[in-house]
Amino acid sequence: MIEIKDLSLKYPKTRHNPEVLALKNVSFSLEEGTFLVVVGPSGSGKTSLLRAITGIYPSHGKILINNKDISKIHPSDRNISYVSQEYALYPHLTIFDNIAFPLKAKRAPKEEIIKEVYEVSEALGISHLMNRKPSELSGGQQQRVALARALVKKPSLYLFDEPLSNISVDSREEARNLIKDEIKKRKATSIYVTHDMKEAIQLGDKILVISDGEIKAYGEPNELLSLGIINSFDR
Ligand code: ADP
Ligand code: MG
Repeated sequence: MIEIKDLSLKYPKTRHNPEVLALKNVSFSLEEGTFLVVVGPSGSGKTSLLRAITGIYPSHGKILINNKDISKIHPSDRNISYVSQEYALYPHLTIFDNIAFPLKAKRAPKEEIIKEVYEVSEALGISHLMNRKPSELSGGQQQRVALARALVKKPSLYLFDEPLSNISVDSREEARNLIKDEIKKRKATSIYVTHDMKEAIQLGDKILVISDGEIKAYGEPNELLSLGIINSFDR
C-alpha cells in the first residue's frame, strides 16, 4: 500500500526563471500490486511526482509505503526502482554488467545473477547484446536495457517515466505489454508516467490525471471513460 499525503515540490527562483510550484498538495493512495498510470500534458508535474517519491529532489509531505513514512529516508535506501527519462546507463560497463548492477550491489549469488539477467533480457529481446557497451546500442535498445536493469531489482515500488519514448512506434505496443506482463508476474506496485492517453487506458489498473501540479481525476480507466473525463482520442 502506497499513500501520498499533501506532497508539494517547489523549484526555487533562479536568475532567469521564477519559482515553480510543480506539485501542489498532491494526495492519493494505491493498493499493493496496482499498476497506476499518471497522465498529463508536458510540464504538468509528472516527472516531479516521481522525483519526489524517489527522493532525488526534496519535497514536502508524506510518502508512506506499507505504513512506513519513507520521506526522510535517503533515496538509495527507499527500495524503489526508477527508470528516468534519461535512463543513464553506465558507459564503461557491458550491457550484462549494467543489468546485473543492482543484483551485484545486493551481493546476490553469481548463478542467480546470470539467471535473472538472461531471463529479463530475453523477455525484452536484448539477450544478444550482453557483451556490448551502451554507446554501441540504439536509443531504443538502451531504453530496454534500462528497463531490464529496473526489472531485476524487485523493489517495493517501480517508477517509470515515459519509458517507451525512444522505442520505435512499431515495437512500442509489444514493449508496453512486456512491461505490464513482467510487473504483473511480480505482483509489484508501479507508477508509470506517460503523456499518451491511449497508453494510459491500455496499461492502467488506475489512472491519475495531473494538470498544473494538481490531481484532476483519479480512478479506473472505465470509470473515467464513462464519466467523460478522459477519452481514447486524447493525445
Ligand atoms: P512533466 O514531467 O509533466 O512534463 P515536470 O515535472 O518535468 O513536468 O515539470 C513541472 C514544472 O516544473 C514545469 O513547469 C517545469 O518547467 C518545471 N521544472 C521541471 N524541472 C525543473 C527544474 N529542474 N528546475 C526548475 N523548474 C523545473
Ligand atoms: Mg517529464
